[in-house]
Amino acid sequence: MTEALRLVIDRKCPYCRRQVYSEREAKEILYGSPIRSCQCGKDYLDIRYHEIALTGIEPESLEIRQNVLILFFIIPIMLATVLAFIQNLPKLTAFLLLEILMLITAVRDMIQKKNGTKFKHLRAESENRLRNPEYVQRLQAAGYAIPGRMK
Ligand SMILES: [Zn+2]
Repeated sequence: MTEALRLVIDRKCPYCRRQVYSEREAKEILYGSPIRSCQCGKDYLDIRYHEIALTGIEPESLEIRQNVLILFFIIPIMLATVLAFIQNLPKLTAFLLLEILMLITAVRDMIQKKNGTKFKHLRAESENRLRNPEYVQRLQAAGYAIPGRMK
């Protein structure tokens, strides 16, 4: 019989009471194994971590509001930089390149959220973990619903 893992209590390891994450990090949505290891050597359960192949991706993680917000800020600043640049201010080259980089990053992140590639790697990692029957048993003992094909 696999021993049931204990859940984090008040952001602390349920075994040694060491703080494992800060209050600011408490609402984070993370992807990976919910079974974490404490410095005390014990494993505990941290449900901020989502095992994608079991519980899927949280809608919040696919939200593009933040990307759109970045574009709203960066595009006018970029246009202003371009105008200044045309008026012969080549000192702004580095600034302009930085803005272009931010623009590309925001757009790429948005596309990856929309076409599903953003979580492809994490999903593959999750599926790999779930190929280990011992790992699946530990999750099941912790209360996770495991589809029949994974048992
Ligand atoms: Zn501990």
